Amino acid sequence: MNESLFQFIWQHSLYNGTALHTASGEPLTVIYSGRLNRDAGPDFLEAKIKIGNTILVGNVELHTRSSDWLRHGHQHDPAYKNLALHVVYDDDVAGVAGNIPVLVLRPAVAQQVIDRYAGLVNTSLKLPCARQHTSVKSITKEGWLSRLLAERWEQKLTDWNVMLDNSAEDWRNLLYWRMAANFGFKTNATPFLLLAQSLPLNIPTRHKDNLLQLEALFFGQAGMLDDDFNDDYPRELQREYDYLKKKYKLKPIPNGLWKFLRMRPVNFPSVRIAQFAALVHKSLHLFSQILETHSVKDITPLLDVRASSYWDTHYRFDAVQERPSPKTLGNSSIENIVINTIAPIQFLYAARQGTSQLQEHALQLLEAVPAEQNHITRLWEENEWPAENAAQSQALLQLYNNYCSARRCLECTVGLNIIRS
Ligand code: SF4
Repeated sequence: MNESLFQFIWQHSLYNGTALHTASGEPLTVIYSGRLNRDAGPDFLEAKIKIGNTILVGNVELHTRSSDWLRHGHQHDPAYKNLALHVVYDDDVAGVAGNIPVLVLRPAVAQQVIDRYAGLVNTSLKLPCARQHTSVKSITKEGWLSRLLAERWEQKLTDWNVMLDNSAEDWRNLLYWRMAANFGFKTNATPFLLLAQSLPLNIPTRHKDNLLQLEALFFGQAGMLDDDFNDDYPRELQREYDYLKKKYKLKPIPNGLWKFLRMRPVNFPSVRIAQFAALVHKSLHLFSQILETHSVKDITPLLDVRASSYWDTHYRFDAVQERPSPKTLGNSSIENIVINTIAPIQFLYAARQGTSQLQEHALQLLEAVPAEQNHITRLWEENEWPAENAAQSQALLQLYNNYCSARRCLECTVGLNIIRS
């Protein structure tokens, strides 16, 4: 028995509550276990307990051994003077809490509860409940996944909210920054975001009709034009950038931030920057279009961009590739952008406007995108919990990263259902 499990058992009433008695022999009924307190002070607040014929409403402190009361110094702490109940698993030192009623819970806790918990935490499996989760009802799991998705978005959108608060609700700028970070995908998200932040949106907007100037601005600010090139195209970009840099007093980000190693050439940041420039060139009112579009079928054409013709034969400046190929964004990249930028921004916009119908649209958009494929979704699939769509794959990522790998099974609905089954 440990403190976390003991709290969990009390919180979810995982004991036989029919014949409880205080340590002094009075019959006891738990009407309400109380609210778990994560701050300083007693473990559960505002519990409701019936002892004999008296109903007590107050705080409850839990210890696996009653002597912990002394070890934790509660006898000197006024916050523990007026508890309704002291619940212990073992009463190794009687009377430590003075007149406060004591409940010894060990006789009421079934060994299976402890064994099921041990089965979850004492395993080397990557997914501790791999052998047990199939016993949990689908409807319970689906509800948990919905809450996990909300939790994931809440964490993700905290920074976005701050950015909006600090910029007088500049949604176009938020979209520009987030879209740029998304074009960097996992490996180059940070330099891409820095690139966008180094180039205020009003500047590319002024040059949006001229693709070459847009490319010059983005490649120049990325620090990728500071070289002696052989090809005409990068030389032309250099000339454009020299002029624009002086005009707008621009300062590029360090070229060394970009990562090319161990990447497939189609994902090289040089290709992505060319595609991003093409997106800015193509999209006249991208933000309003994105807000009004709630189907993947309609969003795909908005993001279906192709880098300029030089990139048909190059992945990097001055290096001709063997087999030419158009550098379009591709379906999986578009889906990634829908998952990581468009659906969340639609959701955030709806939340800040207070329109629940639009929030629902954002969730439906995610449900219409196929599940992501990565080592975590594959792990779930191998263990008989495949994601059916991107909403579920996002929730399963959240579950694995924040709960399973941290062994937080006691805070997980699946864990609760396994332990109390
Ligand atoms: S956190 Fe939940 S889903 Fe993950 S292993 Fe534990 S019980 Fe299973």
